[in-house]
Amino acid sequence: MKLCRFVYDQQAPLGADRLGLVEGDEVLDVSGALEAIPAQRWPIAPGDPLIMNLERVTARVHALTASAPRHQLSAVKLRSPVANPTKIVNAPINYQAHIDEAKTDQGIAHGRDMSKGIWDWGLFLKATSALIGPGEDIRLRFPQRRNDHEIELAVIIGKQCNHVKKEDALQYVAGYAIGLDMTIRGPELQCFRKSPDTYAVCGPWLVTKDEIPEPNNLDLSLRVNGELRQHSNTKRLVYNVERLIEYATSFYTLHPGDLIFTGTPEGVGPVQPGDLISAEIERIGRFEIRVADTYDQ
Ligand code: MN
Repeated sequence: MKLCRFVYDQQAPLGADRLGLVEGDEVLDVSGALEAIPAQRWPIAPGDPLIMNLERVTARVHALTASAPRHQLSAVKLRSPVANPTKIVNAPINYQAHIDEAKTDQGIAHGRDMSKGIWDWGLFLKATSALIGPGEDIRLRFPQRRNDHEIELAVIIGKQCNHVKKEDALQYVAGYAIGLDMTIRGPELQCFRKSPDTYAVCGPWLVTKDEIPEPNNLDLSLRVNGELRQHSNTKRLVYNVERLIEYATSFYTLHPGDLIFTGTPEGVGPVQPGDLISAEIERIGRFEIRVADTYDQ
């Protein structure tokens, strides 16, 4: 099942968000299924309410499909399928060929010791306020600095978990999406320079895990203005999906809707206002997103 969050107009307020079931090039408006989410009073439990109640919601989705209004996907604006993660967990240097390119390009490494591995670096967090979907624009905060694209498989956590063994890790996954870990290159800490508004893209939808039994063998590719920049396969991850969940939960609890951006392969490079990024991952799908200046309207 492919579930998306969409609006009819990019300027629509948060309350206008719809829940969609994607079938081919159409989206079925199944927003009625959101009634399966119990009302919450302050303070709300940590985690995304849709993902927390995903089984109840999907059961209602099935009942609604026959009568759901249909729209062309190209006519709606897709937002991040997860609205309220508590964390966006990111893997640095998790493909060997990306480590190799960072060793030879000081524009990427900025003096950091690339002889160390992910087991030395640990994971880092992007601000949740950076999260957008492909129907919005990436707005470059400092267009005069180097702003890079990084395509990554995004894992969407389904259940609260802590101290998970890798053998058990996939049972805590709700599904998968495409992540763009947009990055300002420079000397600042990753959590700072990768967290401006719009620098975390997730989309085009959540693919439930039953459709992707093996997340560690997916082709992924990224184009800028039609030119192929990144192309690899998640089988080349240094820490695979299960090991990343084990590693993350050895340090903290993950909550429903938390995102793990699993790291980017080689081919990272700069984008400019006006560019069009196209990102694709096997079994998930493809999206296009526009790069803009912060002040463009
Ligand atoms: Mn990254």
